[in-house]
This record gives sequence, structure tokens and C-alpha cells, in this order.
Amino acid sequence: MSDQTGRNTHRPSIIPRSEHIVSRANISNNAIKVLHRLHKGGFQSFLVGGCVRDLLLRHQPKDFDVATDASPEEVRKLFRNCRLIGRRFRLAHIHFGREIIEVATFRATHDELDDNDIRGLTDAGGRILRDNRYGKLEDDVWRRDFTANALYYTLDGYSIWDFVGGFEDVEQRVLRVIGDPETRYREDPVRMLRAVRFAAKLDFSIDDPSEAPLWELGHLLDDVPPARLFEEIIKMFLAGRAVESLRLLEHYRLLAHLFPALVSELGKDTDGQFRKLLLDGLATTDQRVREDKPVTTFFLFAVLLWAPIKKRFDRLHGGGMPPIPAMQQAVEEIVKAQQSQISVPRRTTIPMKEMLALQSRFNMRKGVRSLRFLHHPRFRAAYDFMLLRASSGDFDTQAAQWWTDIQLADEKSRREMAQVGRGAGSGKRKRRPRRRAARKRSAGQGGQE
Ligand code: ATP
Ligand code: MG
Repeated sequence: MSDQTGRNTHRPSIIPRSEHIVSRANISNNAIKVLHRLHKGGFQSFLVGGCVRDLLLRHQPKDFDVATDASPEEVRKLFRNCRLIGRRFRLAHIHFGREIIEVATFRATHDELDDNDIRGLTDAGGRILRDNRYGKLEDDVWRRDFTANALYYTLDGYSIWDFVGGFEDVEQRVLRVIGDPETRYREDPVRMLRAVRFAAKLDFSIDDPSEAPLWELGHLLDDVPPARLFEEIIKMFLAGRAVESLRLLEHYRLLAHLFPALVSELGKDTDGQFRKLLLDGLATTDQRVREDKPVTTFFLFAVLLWAPIKKRFDRLHGGGMPPIPAMQQAVEEIVKAQQSQISVPRRTTIPMKEMLALQSRFNMRKGVRSLRFLHHPRFRAAYDFMLLRASSGDFDTQAAQWWTDIQLADEKSRREMAQVGRGAGSGKRKRRPRRRAARKRSAGQGGQE
């Protein structure tokens, strides 16, 4: 059997141990235990998906996923530390302390099931296929999104089974949709975001047929459940390649379907101030991920939504509302409008609103309140955000420096600084620099925890 791309659906090419670099030394011991136990139980078991791809790229995999012909119930019988999750597609999670090995039964989509499966007959091993959503290894391959994500590694000979040319694509660093790209994107539009995410994260190019529909199909994202988009956005922007991901989302005209208010403000951002804050903020986040420092969703969303929030704030504040309620209302309105695309949960919006409402306190340097502010639980995040504003020309750089200095000062000097209330060493009040005159300063580093 073969399809229009000429793929042979039933014969994998088997890459022997001598021809690939995947080594057991880089595989989690728990994953190896799971593979062994399934095998001993008489089942097929493979590592599959991102972990095989990452090992081939010499990256440390985030987690290890296993695919098997054992049903979830059969998996549970083999492992005491197993929990079944999911309703539509049941998956087995095997728990080893904090590590979870996810075990998925081979699955087929309906049009990939042959007649035997649909009639619920037995497979080669003689077992009844209780549920015809389950399939064989040969079926499981085709439901996967990209060839690079459809490689199967077995402990049996330590070889890699490749039905779709994924091995070569990983070597060439090409992202290629399995099957007809447009059809696969229509089946699940999140695959377009996955294409962007993997291209950015792995530094892969997207092959032409897989790339072409991206420019045209952004509107399909409008119908994806907003909660799923939140998860996907978090994965995309907190993987250490946020700047590149944003570039690709704009390039493929997908960004407007995710953050319409942001895109609209970027369109009017003639002096590039908002774009600068956005790119600096994402660069800081990328830097923190690379340094293994904690990153938060609320800081990320503050960066992503700052342009429309600030615009709204200026309106409200300009109309006479005091800064704190004006900022709170601006955040509320923009977040509410955003929810129809991406549902941002309260655990993100609440600290984000707090952090942004604190921005006006950076204007108040005189008096004990400024000293107290230093101990506010959100001070550090608010300070980092203020530095981003300062470096994009949205906050006085002298004042920003004062907040940097006061943190480094001892108690006595702090009190002295708070008495004067302006930048150390400056005898007279400096005029606010004009927007364009603001120069880049060291961007905020810490405080996203
Ligand atoms: P990551 O490094 O982000 O974990 P991953 O490739 O492992 O990357 P997962 O989201 O963990 O991605 O999914 C595991 C595997 O499941 C993928 O490699 C792919 O084979 C398959 N998969 C996941 N989501 C989809 C989807 N929307 N459509 C088709 N296949 C998918
Ligand atoms: Mg994964």
C-alpha cells in the first residue's frame, strides 16, 4: 500500500545501531525499564516522538514517550505505579518519583484501519482488538504530525524504525508533514503552531509543501479551543526560542489569529517602541530559559499584551483615572478581549495585573513607601518589567537607574536615597529624556519567579 507521496506504509527502513547515535546512556533508566517490562510481557515497545528526534540531534529530551501494542489496561496490569488518564484516548502514565513515562497504545485513525481491524478481528499475535481506534505500529505512524516525530526506537537490536523518511529529514534538519499538509493542518490546525515551534526550537527549515499552506490557513486557528491554544503558546514561548517563534508567527501571518490586539498595535507603532519592548522581553525570557532560571507565564503574557494594555491605560489615565485603577482596568479589558482567542487562566492574569499595577510605584521615589516597595513580593518581577519599559523609552532611564542603585545600597544609604528621592549624584532634577533618545540599557534579568 502506498499513498500519493509514494510512501510505503508497511515496510519501515530499519536503521541499525551502527548507523545512528542514539545511545542507551542518554535514555532515562525508567524509560528503559518500561520498554523492557512491556517486551517481557510479550508486547512490542518503542520509544517514539520527540525523544528519538532529540537524541538524534544530541539534545537532552524533555521526556520519554513509549508506544506499544499493549492496551492501556494491559499496561496497567504490568505496572503497579501506573495511572490511566484521558477519556477519548486513554494513555498510561507510569510514575517514577517525579518522572512520568507516558505509554500510548498504537492508534489508527479510521481511514487508516483496514477491514480486519474494523471488524474487530485478531491481530498477528492473536489478541482481540477490543477497540478499533487502536491499531498496529504501521497505523500509528500515520497519525503523527511530522516525519521527524515519527521515528521508533527499539531495545531489540537498538535500531530505529523509520516508515516516513524521518531519519534523513532529521539529518537534513527538515520539517515535513506526514501526508498531505493542507489536509493535516485542517484536521488539526494546532499542527501549524507545532510547525513553527519545532522550526524555531530545532532550527529546522519547513519543506516547501508543508510551508505553503501556513500563509493561507491561519484563520483555522480561530476555531481551536482557546484553552488548547494557551497550552501551545506556553510551550512555544517558554522553550528558549521565543524571539524566533514570534518572527515565524508574523512571517506566516499566524500571529494576528492569536494576538489580534497586539498585531493591531504593532501596526501603528511608528517609532518601534512597543516592538522593542516585545522583542527585548522575549529575548530576556529566552536567556533565562538557556540559563535554567525560572520563567513565568504572567511575565510572558505581560510582555505579549503590553502594547494594547499601555494604549488602553493611556486613554483611561489621560481621562482622569488614577494610575493604579487605570492599569487594573486596562489589563482587565485587554485580557477579556484576548480570551476569545487564547484563554489565559487566572493564575496567570492575577499576578500579571498585580505586576503591571505596581508600575506606577516606580514614579514615587521619595519617602518610606519606596523602601517598603523593595520588599513587595512582586517587586522583582515589576522591576524587571520596568527595565524593559525604560530601555524601550517608556520610562525614565535615570529613575530606572535609581531603582537599580537602591537595591545595591546598604540600609543607611537607602534611607538617604529615599529622602532625596531622585537619581544618586544628580544635584538637579533631570528632564525626562525624549522617547527616541532612550538608549538600550541592560535588560532585566531576574525576578520572573
Ligand atoms: P516536545 O519536545 O515538545 O515534547 P514532541 O514531539 O515530543 O515534542 P509532544 O507534544 O510531546 O511533542 O507529542 C509527542 C508525539 O505525539 C509527537 O512527536 C508526535 O508524533 C505526536 N503528536 C503530538 N501532537 C500531535 C498532533 N497535534 N498531531 C499529530 N501528532 C501529534
Ligand atoms: Mg514530548
